[in-house]
Amino acid sequence: MTPATQFKPHAHSNAVSSARPMQPYWAEVAEIQAEAPGVSTFWLRFLDESLRTSYRFLPGQFNMLGVPGLGESAISISSSPEKLDRIGHTVRFVGNVTQAISRLKVGDVVGVRGPFGSAWPLERLKGRDIVLAAGGIGLPPLRSALYPIMNHRSDYERVVV
Ligand SMILES: Cc1cc2nc3c(=O)[nH]c(=O)nc-3n(C[C@H](O)[C@H](O)[C@H](O)COP(=O)(O)OP(=O)(O)OC[C@H]3O[C@@H](n4cnc5c(N)ncnc54)[C@H](O)[C@@H]3O)c2cc1C
Repeated sequence: MTPATQFKPHAHSNAVSSARPMQPYWAEVAEIQAEAPGVSTFWLRFLDESLRTSYRFLPGQFNMLGVPGLGESAISISSSPEKLDRIGHTVRFVGNVTQAISRLKVGDVVGVRGPFGSAWPLERLKGRDIVLAAGGIGLPPLRSALYPIMNHRSDYERVVV
């Protein structure tokens, strides 16, 4: 049997729209960044080039990352919503799916369904102080809010992490 991490679907199998949330978009692992023991950030690039510009998400949202043949897990997006060429997901390896993600190599392909979930209301926070509070694996998703705040720093008052 072909190991799941060697699964290489054709780019055109990405031909899905957000109207079909149950069907994954295929993305390759572009880079893996070790963050801490048992935690790495996976930078994913969609195989379908049109998705690299059309896919959008809001700070705080998550994707379902799927390893073919093994299953999928909810993983928050940990990169900036203003930088869409590669999407970051920071994963703590705890069980079946996340351990399978830990074995992925650059060039391997995963399924991405999403984005899902509600978002942090950065528009509403303009002109106000912001306190970002999190611990452990809850911290990386805050980066999806922190980068736009840093990029538009004058829109906000005090920012405390
Ligand atoms: C909306 C949402 C966003 C999430 N974002 C992230 C994220 O950005 N990064 C990330 O790493 N995880 C995130 N998670 C958690 C992630 O989805 C789970 O850790 C993952 O689905 C576990 O699947 P698994 O198959 O690896 O483990 P399973 O095989 O399902 O579980 C194996 C064992 O590990 C235990 N376990 C499961 N999760 C954890 C945990 N987090 N800590 C300690 N023990 C655990 C289970 O109780 C079980 O005993 C998020 C979850 C949700 C709902």
